[in-house]
Amino acid sequence: MNAKEYVENIIENVKAKNPAQPEFHQAVTEVLHTLIPVIEKNPKYMKHKILERITEPERVIMFRVTWEDDNGELHVNRGYRIEFNGAIGPYKGGLRFHPTVTLGVLKFLGFEQIFKNALTGIPMGGAKGGSDFDPHGKSDSEVRRFCENFMMELYRHIGPNTDVPAGDIGVGGREIGYLFGAYRKIVDRWEGVLTGKGLNWGGSLIRPEATGYGATYYLIEMLKKFKGKKDLKGYNVAISGSGNVAQFASKKVTEFGGKVVTLSDSKGAMYLPDGINDDIWNAVYETKAIKHGRLQEVAEKFDLPWFPGKKAWEVAAKEAGEVHIAFPSATQNEINAEDAKTLINAGLIAVVEGANMPSTLDAINLYFENDVLFGPAKAANAGGVAVSGLEMSQNAQFTYWSAEEVDRKLHDIMVNIFNTGVKYAEKYDKPTNLLLGSNIGGFVKVADSMIDQGIY
Ligand code: GLU
Repeated sequence: MNAKEYVENIIENVKAKNPAQPEFHQAVTEVLHTLIPVIEKNPKYMKHKILERITEPERVIMFRVTWEDDNGELHVNRGYRIEFNGAIGPYKGGLRFHPTVTLGVLKFLGFEQIFKNALTGIPMGGAKGGSDFDPHGKSDSEVRRFCENFMMELYRHIGPNTDVPAGDIGVGGREIGYLFGAYRKIVDRWEGVLTGKGLNWGGSLIRPEATGYGATYYLIEMLKKFKGKKDLKGYNVAISGSGNVAQFASKKVTEFGGKVVTLSDSKGAMYLPDGINDDIWNAVYETKAIKHGRLQEVAEKFDLPWFPGKKAWEVAAKEAGEVHIAFPSATQNEINAEDAKTLINAGLIAVVEGANMPSTLDAINLYFENDVLFGPAKAANAGGVAVSGLEMSQNAQFTYWSAEEVDRKLHDIMVNIFNTGVKYAEKYDKPTNLLLGSNIGGFVKVADSMIDQGIY
């Protein structure tokens, strides 16, 4: 069997063994196809059945979470933790609380996390967890009761050297606080078992900013190397989402001279004819991160055009006319082939993925066919988990680093991740194929570690 047949075989097996998990199939297909050249040159991966092993989570934990709402009514949700691969370090990855959460969604996220974490250079394995619980519209007490009940089960599976969860969609500072409080009460120990903690109690400076800042640093590296440009001056940047990633991406993009033309949430998109300024930024932060409200409130406050039910891409293309950079920062599959065409027709030169797997496979093919620079999620958005790794280091040393120090380390890590992608892209394909280069860069580290550690 040659490498291509081996890979196609594994993809078919993964699909057959994991029915009704389309997002997981998509992530496995995307990664494995790019690994063909490295498998071809290194028969050891086939001999050691690395693809069979790496596509099977080491452990999947599913549990019931029962909680009581403010009216005394009981609700039952499902909790999950996928400990996908621990070869290079403690399991690490976020928790997502969102009604779309399923086993398949968390398996795709956990699978991606293996390679993303490996790329950071920090010893962290891949994991993901969460629940189909929707924190939107819930009171603080309801969210707290849910988090306490969630931790009542999760605590026995995690630990600072075992598995270290963090936030993701629907899990921000408030939820991490309630989860940490519950953990500490149950185990009666203070330890860095979660990242994204509050600054007063073991959190790291720059952790909230890290994903958005890091993705922007990555974008700048792409433009420097392939376009000879050091900033974003003259570029319209369409950002989707308005949560943690989009907030800090919009800030950094503006600092680099780019014009942020859109933000969005699940209800619609907001057009920013003059880009984002401090007042609008503060209102977005306040509305989304503190009040857990809707972006439309910001649009109304500043009299900005609001497009209900529309995606950022269409709004940016129609209203701004030209879109040079797409910065998806909301959720999976938010750019499909049609959206990609809309953006390409509007003059797209680069896509940088702040969210996880925001582009469909068809959209990615269109980027490549049209010479659009593509910064894939597991490289571009690795800044978040990288600073989580730095938070773990600070906790382990019982110390705090300054914002400048963390930001400098984050910047260095993003440059390294970019260079790793380029190195493997050059070795196995063309230098701009950062998707292939990043996947291979993450893969060889984990796969070789698995081989070193024998059969498991
Ligand atoms: N949820 C983020 C991600 O997708 C961060 C995970 C973490 O910090 O552990 O990478």
